Amino acid sequence: MRNKLLDRTRLQLAGCYSAVMALLLGLSGLVSYQVLVRAYLYSVDQELQGIAKAFHKNLEHSLTEPEKIPQRLEGMFPDLCLANRPCPQLNVGADSSENALDRRIASVYQSNYYLRFISRSDQLIATSGLRSEGLPETSGRIEWQTLQNQEGERFHQMSLPLHTIDRKVWGYLQVGRSLREVDRRLAALQNMLLIGLPISVLLVGLSSWWLSGLAMRPVQQSYQQMQQFTADAAHELRTPITAILATIDSVLRMPTVSETESREAFTTLERQVSRFLGMVKDLLLLSRLEQHTLTFQPQRLCLNDLMFDLIDEFAALAEASNLALIEQIQTNRPLEIIADEDQIYRLLSNLVINAIRYTPTGKVTLKLYQERDQAVIQVQDTGIGIAAEDLSHVFDRFYRVNSDRSRNSGGTGLGLAIARAIVDAHDGSIQVQSRVGSGSTFTVRLPLKSSHALPIKLKTI
Ligand code: ADP
Repeated sequence: MRNKLLDRTRLQLAGCYSAVMALLLGLSGLVSYQVLVRAYLYSVDQELQGIAKAFHKNLEHSLTEPEKIPQRLEGMFPDLCLANRPCPQLNVGADSSENALDRRIASVYQSNYYLRFISRSDQLIATSGLRSEGLPETSGRIEWQTLQNQEGERFHQMSLPLHTIDRKVWGYLQVGRSLREVDRRLAALQNMLLIGLPISVLLVGLSSWWLSGLAMRPVQQSYQQMQQFTADAAHELRTPITAILATIDSVLRMPTVSETESREAFTTLERQVSRFLGMVKDLLLLSRLEQHTLTFQPQRLCLNDLMFDLIDEFAALAEASNLALIEQIQTNRPLEIIADEDQIYRLLSNLVINAIRYTPTGKVTLKLYQERDQAVIQVQDTGIGIAAEDLSHVFDRFYRVNSDRSRNSGGTGLGLAIARAIVDAHDGSIQVQSRVGSGSTFTVRLPLKSSHALPIKLKTI
């Protein structure tokens, strides 16, 4: 049975959950991306700084005159390209490190690095290493810069002041590194995130639809139970009312009504109205028990005495049904519980009435004994029994194994539901064992009075 409100709630739940998850995923993706970018750039900067400092340290030994490239430098950098002069062909030979300052400097010719020598007035004096078209000339005074060539390739550059041997300012050394590899990796990462994120959001959407379905299941179940209950209650209440109307109708159709006939009609009406009232009272009691709004009066209750009261009360009824009502108290000390006497009486009398009602011949036995810290009461009969498939339903509201038989014998289908609600309110348990044709045994377990506490549910009411 589908319900639009429940379906909409499920959709809203799934939507909200997906939105939150998508937001969190997006944020964490963005943060991870930023962290990776920083980590990449940091490692690039570290490497660049190491190489720049190595060049700087080695170069300063050979500088004599400000802004003048010494002969030795030209020998050290075979591809050195002086401003206003044609540049020599870049030759990345196997022995290019022969004159190199050290192995790190040699790597300039083999990788993405360039060197630029800048005058004190920021004029380009010479370049070496990677040649890149359209790379802007920049001031040597700015330590860290990110530049871009004509093709959009990015470079990270470090500038260091150079001094001559006699500590005069020679000019500036700029060491730059292409970020092509870094940018390529970051672009791949971006693509992964751009493809991965929508897929993850889709998966989150699907899983949240499934999760919201799980979350809605109890709501759906209780909604169905409520609907079932309303339908059952309406059906059950309609039966006595229809009977009442039929009785009134039959009297009204009579041309004359004798005193005996009216008496008979009123007796029938009284029986039907009492049945109706009984059902309404049972429904009210059940709903108060389940909502914990019933006022309990917990008190010390001796179950041995209660058993004798029950036997006294139902002896006549059992006798009228040709049944033996037997009491078996298997304890030599009084078993006391803290409970509401009226409710416990109601619970046990429901069980005894059912036992008598559904036992055509034989006996009904009431047992009382102790099991650890619990009092156990059993109502055993030799009656018609209950089929295995019905056993798990007999405590449901309005459930009847054989509705006609139950209704004819005055049953409402609420007796066992009320019994279970009373047992629950007293922190106890109720179970049934039965075999068709052999009889049934209802077992109630209630916690024995302990010095420390009342049952929780009774205290809160
Ligand atoms: P009812 O008022 O119809 O007896 P209950 O809730 O007390 O409703 O019981 C539910 C159903 O369980 C009954 O309709 C009956 O079929 C079955 N039942 C209960 N007690 C017994 C029993 N002692 N023996 C056989 N059937 C029983």
